[in-house]
Amino acid sequence: MTASHARLERRLLARIRRLNRAFRLIEPGDHVLVACSGGKDSWALLFLLRAYRRHLPFSFELTAVTVDQGHPGFDAGALADAFAAHGFAHRIVFQDTLSVVRAKIPEGATPCPLCSRLRRGILYRVAGEIGATKIALGHHADDAIETLLMNQFFAGQIKAMPPRLVSDDGRHVVIRPLAWAFEREVAAYAAGLAVPIVPCDLCGSQPDHRRTFVRRLLDELERDAASIRRSLLASLAHPVPTHLHLPSPPETRPASADPTTEPQVPDVPAASITPRPPSKPALPAGRRGSMVPLEAGGDNPPPAPDPVNRAARSRRRSYR
Ligand code: SF4
Repeated sequence: MTASHARLERRLLARIRRLNRAFRLIEPGDHVLVACSGGKDSWALLFLLRAYRRHLPFSFELTAVTVDQGHPGFDAGALADAFAAHGFAHRIVFQDTLSVVRAKIPEGATPCPLCSRLRRGILYRVAGEIGATKIALGHHADDAIETLLMNQFFAGQIKAMPPRLVSDDGRHVVIRPLAWAFEREVAAYAAGLAVPIVPCDLCGSQPDHRRTFVRRLLDELERDAASIRRSLLASLAHPVPTHLHLPSPPETRPASADPTTEPQVPDVPAASITPRPPSKPALPAGRRGSMVPLEAGGDNPPPAPDPVNRAARSRRRSYR
C-alpha cells in the first residue's frame, strides 16, 4: 500500500468510526454480510470493514456475498478468485433476475428499482441462511444526496438513504458504512486495491436518466458552490421539523388554533420538561458542530397534507 493510499484509508476509517458511534452500525458479535457486486464501492467497503475490524476492541465476522444476476459477461469466477486471494470468506449466489426484469419492465423504462429490489430479496434470504446479523451495502454520500434530491424533485418527499435501516418485517438490519464518504474518495481507494472491478453496465440497461440529471446538476452547482454536496449531506442530519409543512399533533393544538398565526407555547411545569439528550455526534467531514442522528421510530408527526392532486400522487414513486 502506498503512503497516499494509507492516508486515504485512515481518513475513510475515521468517517466509518464516527458514523458507527452515531448509529451503532457494527456491534460486538455481529456477522456482517457485505453485498459485493464487484464494483468499486463494494470492494472499497469490504476492504475498509476488514481494516476497521483491526482497530476495534471487539471482533465481528465478515462474509462477502455476490449475487450473480445473470448479466452477460459477469465473471463470477474472477471475483471468487479475488476473494480467495485476499482471504475473504465469500459466497457467490446465482439467480437470473435479468430475465425477470426484462420481462416486466417496458422498453425505455428504468429497470434499476425492480432489479435492486430483487437483489435485496436475495441478500435477505442469504443473510438468513448464513446467520448474518447485518447486511452492509456500499452506498456512499453521493448516492444518499442524489436520492434525496430525486425524491424532492420527482416524488415530493424528503427522504434519502439512512446509514442504518431495519427491514419492513423487522428481521434484517441494513447498514451503509460509507454513508459519510464521498464517491471520489471511495473510487480512489478502490483504484489502489488489486482487485477486478466489474463495470456496472453489464446489465445493458439505459442509464437512470433522473439520477444522471441530478448528478449533472450537482456537478454544475458545485462549480459555483464548492461545498454543496457536503452541505446537502449535513442537511440529512439537521432536519428542522417545525419549519417543514408538518401539522402539529392534535393533542398539542389549541382548540381555537388559527393555522395562520404562530403556534402558542403551552404552560408546562418545569418538572415535566424532559431534558434534551446530550449526544452530539460529529459531522461527516471537515466541519465540526452539532449533528443529531436521525432516530428510528419515536413520536412521528402525523402525515403531512398532500398538496398535489390524486393523479399526480399516483404517478410519483420514491427512490431508494
Ligand atoms: S444498473 Fe443494471 S444491475 Fe444495476 S440496478 Fe440497474 S438494472 Fe440492476
